[in-house]
Amino acid sequence: MIASHPPLPLIDTESRSLILHLRCPECGTVYDASVLQTVCYHEGCTSSLYAEYDLSGGLSKDILTNRPANMWRYREVMPVMDIENIVSLGEGFTPILPLQNLKHLAGDIDVYWKDESGNPTGSFKARGISAAVSKAKELGIDTIVTPTAGNAGGALAAYAARAGIKAVVYMPKLTPKLFKDECRLYGAQLVEVDGSISDCGKMANADAIKNGWFQVSTLKEPYRLEGKKTMGYEIAEQFNWQLPDVIIYPTGGGTGLLGIWKAFNEMETLGWIGSHRPRMVAVQSDSCNGIVKAFHNDTHTSEFTDGGFTIANGLRVPKPYADKLILKVLRESHGHAISVSDAQMETALKEIARTEGMLIAPEGAALWYAFKKLKAQNWLHDGETVLLLNTGSGYKYLENIC
Ligand SMILES: *Cc1c(COP(=O)(O)O)cnc(C)c1O
Ligand SMILES: [Zn+2]
Repeated sequence: MIASHPPLPLIDTESRSLILHLRCPECGTVYDASVLQTVCYHEGCTSSLYAEYDLSGGLSKDILTNRPANMWRYREVMPVMDIENIVSLGEGFTPILPLQNLKHLAGDIDVYWKDESGNPTGSFKARGISAAVSKAKELGIDTIVTPTAGNAGGALAAYAARAGIKAVVYMPKLTPKLFKDECRLYGAQLVEVDGSISDCGKMANADAIKNGWFQVSTLKEPYRLEGKKTMGYEIAEQFNWQLPDVIIYPTGGGTGLLGIWKAFNEMETLGWIGSHRPRMVAVQSDSCNGIVKAFHNDTHTSEFTDGGFTIANGLRVPKPYADKLILKVLRESHGHAISVSDAQMETALKEIARTEGMLIAPEGAALWYAFKKLKAQNWLHDGETVLLLNTGSGYKYLENIC
């Protein structure tokens, strides 16, 4: 007789969250994390809020040994208290792939992709949404809404379905059909909006206030950031705790960029890494390049910039809510900001598919063009290690590519 064994659990059952509270990174006000919070409301401050953990005692990296290979392996620095509330489809712990057949174009620079395309619903949005939906479940939410350029909507629809929570998704009409189909298939209510994600945001906000729904718009809710920061933990762990010299990141609302940076700071406090930081590069679409302009004009906030349709719908964010925080990280890290046209993204996407066997999202493809440009400008140096963060799969975008 063959004994039957259950598979290994998705979540480590021994670990506990070390969350203390939320804090405003701009004015320092502290907020209770055991009740619903959105953004800072102290004396007109409207900053995003950051979760803080009790890291003072340090923590051994050995806790990670034998933990499941998904983002909840960093449970101590995740916000969910009760394991029963974790809504997981196995997101995270995505591979780091060396550049292979295009390596000759990189010269003596070591280039790697962190490839997020294998996440549930085909993008890294799964990380943020898994964390936000889990915490919403913990706090007793029954309807959750988001404006989206595409991928966040699909992820929210899927995780809400799994959590038994109702989802309402606001998406621009010009988004490829597959992004809409997946939302409907996962049982979400889809509202198509004539305009950009900013217009979706206004409508979502009005409906949410009217109906008492909980909104998880980018960085107006504290926990999507916590999900996305796990990319920073993974980058450190997968590079054996030696961070790359440069990280190139396609910036929409900036959650991933801010999350990765937050993870680095937390890991330094934990004693897991030293003070060395990668130079962080934000890549935008020419159509929405407000951060690039602000970076080069030395301003602390960005202007509303919307040049209309781009194949990289995840980058059509006319004014990121957390623009100040994004610009601060770019400057603190001695990073850069650069924008890419649709034609350049499409050429890069096809080149990578043909040679590397990866059909990546146009947002990710933009990084390859940006890499070549930064190399040509000698902003990147021989001997450096550069990580390109491919945020999603190309499959949902193909109606605008072939
Ligand atoms: C949402 C999205 C982005 C932008 O993400 P942020 O972390 O909000 O800047 C980039 N790429 C893809 C594929 C996306 O779906
Ligand atoms: Zn504040």
